[in-house]
Amino acid sequence: METEQNESSIEKFPFPLVDETGYLACFYCGKHIRHTPEENAVFGEEPYPFDRGHGICLSCGGDPRSTDLGTQLGLIGLVCCAVRFEIVRDNLTPQHQALFDALPDWKKIVASGFLIKGLLMKRRHKI
Ligand SMILES: [Zn+2]
Repeated sequence: METEQNESSIEKFPFPLVDETGYLACFYCGKHIRHTPEENAVFGEEPYPFDRGHGICLSCGGDPRSTDLGTQLGLIGLVCCAVRFEIVRDNLTPQHQALFDALPDWKKIVASGFLIKGLLMKRRHKI
């Protein structure tokens, strides 16, 4: 059964992923990028997360080689973090909101992961 799925995915996503122009289109912004680790944020991912002809540019998907956190996260990562930060803040007391606001961004990201997981568990189990 697994072999059939692998053969099916090979037919669905034939190599190369690029179209006849040699470029991919960023799934989010449409920018034309080459299918290389330097331009496609999902280069080498298996299974490949998009249809033939699509990838994610580093502006949207993030650049792990950057020393700047915002550039590492990319636009999609920044949007996800902003949404998580808002969910976390809305569920904190004013005193804890002030503590959360004072954290550097990388600590907010780590804290949000744990706090959101705790909030979901609390709601699931109606604690
Ligand atoms: Zn993009």
